[in-house]
Amino acid sequence: MSAVNAAGWRPEMSQGSAQGAVTASGDKGLMLEEALIFELGRPGTCGVDIDEPEGAVLPGLEKFLRASAPDLPGLTEPETVRHYTRLSRQNYAIDLGPFPLGSCTMKHNPRLNEKVARLPGFADVHPLQPQQTVRGAVEVIVQLADWLVTLTGMHAVAMTPKAGAHGELCGLLCIRAALEARGDKREVILVPESAHGTNPATAAFAGYRVENIPATADGRVDLAALTARLGPDVAAVMITNPNTCGLFERDMKAIADAVHAAGGLVYCDGANFNAIVGKVRPGDLGIDAMHINLHKTFSTPHGGGGPGSGPVVLSEALAPFAPLPYAERTAEGYCRLIEEEDAGTDHPHAFGRMSAFHGQMGMFTRALTYILSHGADGLRQVSEDAVLNANYVLRSLEDVLDAPFGKAGPCMHEALFSDVGLAEGFTTLDIAKGLIDEGFHPMTVYFPLVVHGAMLVEPTETESKAGLDRFIASLRSLAERARAGDAALKAAPVLAPRRRLDETLAARKPVLVHPA
Ligand SMILES: *Cc1c(COP(=O)(O)O)cnc(C)c1O
Repeated sequence: MSAVNAAGWRPEMSQGSAQGAVTASGDKGLMLEEALIFELGRPGTCGVDIDEPEGAVLPGLEKFLRASAPDLPGLTEPETVRHYTRLSRQNYAIDLGPFPLGSCTMKHNPRLNEKVARLPGFADVHPLQPQQTVRGAVEVIVQLADWLVTLTGMHAVAMTPKAGAHGELCGLLCIRAALEARGDKREVILVPESAHGTNPATAAFAGYRVENIPATADGRVDLAALTARLGPDVAAVMITNPNTCGLFERDMKAIADAVHAAGGLVYCDGANFNAIVGKVRPGDLGIDAMHINLHKTFSTPHGGGGPGSGPVVLSEALAPFAPLPYAERTAEGYCRLIEEEDAGTDHPHAFGRMSAFHGQMGMFTRALTYILSHGADGLRQVSEDAVLNANYVLRSLEDVLDAPFGKAGPCMHEALFSDVGLAEGFTTLDIAKGLIDEGFHPMTVYFPLVVHGAMLVEPTETESKAGLDRFIASLRSLAERARAGDAALKAAPVLAPRRRLDETLAARKPVLVHPA
């Protein structure tokens, strides 16, 4: 258990710690230790002064009366505030330093986004308000929809999905509705080996059988293998472009043409749109459906579980099946969301709904603010800088870290390394843990699965050259230590509040109360 839950001297303190400092409190300067909230709490302590309830219990509700008090930690308000503030200081944040997590596009969230999202006209509207009372909010949804359709060269967009994975499901349900509408019972979805785990999971969830397509030696979809597998049972392919190896799928158009010729549809995982926004329009590549992670490409804070937003752009073939509410600009130029009451006449083929209301309004507002403040030229610059930064990282480190596809040419927005060349017994995990001691959030590790000991670094366009140089210097030092077999690295992190944890056990069996 946590060694410093109770203040007071303990023998191990005299032996010093990895940090060298020994204090009676367990705190180290401004790095404050913190016990679990249930250890801090005292029975009978309360942060608010609440009167005993008066009056009789309503007849019939007696059986719901509590037999005992709820088992809540008893803390005062200042104790509660300090508890969470202390914990938050042990965390890492995009406002503290780079978050080089590949496949996540953790970029700076401009403060302007927040300012606009907090305007009462957006922040205080209720999803059940009649549309005519929230015209501005509806206009924001439709303007954002217009931008997404224009940037992707697609026909329409379903705005309501609330994350990338939710968007995948929405796209596949559109595909299934389109196939069913033509009486076609296809049941297989082809997914490349390198796909994000959500792709096969979504396909299975939507009731399809998933089959893998192999990759070529240069990290891309094997077009010949894919074409050979196409047939009357294949409903769709799900391809990520740029893919999870950080490479552009050059054969995308040929893949789409082959799939269409075989009667199937093409789903594109657009989570990596940040690398190509303003440069490539997926609609030109023959894609039928693609989700966009607003919380990646268009900033909006994410991580720690949310919130996300995953609108799905659709081809002309799929647009009629988009779920309700369906955002549109009418021929007269006015914005509306088509709901059930009008769907029969105005959007009759909708497959259903993805969410109770209209999607993540706060994320829409932030994403549109980001888009408008960058403009079309600024968005193109975003993708160019994201790709430049990733290639700078790739080329700066390829002499100390194996870059499996480095020889094949430049990467897109992510630099992919492997554990080849590390000393016997040293792994990707050692380098990731070492980065914590260096003051950086680790990169994505062990993904994509097609590369052994993968390290996927996505610097994003946000980082300056000076910031990248600091990160590269740390990663270089760690790579050199892992190549040389520096045993001290196996203990990293030694400067963080905790050493190596069993993260799986902690997630599966969290110990929230100190055993007595
Ligand atoms: C992030 C991501 C997803 C899933 O998006 P969520 O918003 O986390 O559900 C899917 N595919 C790829 C390639 C991603 O990077």
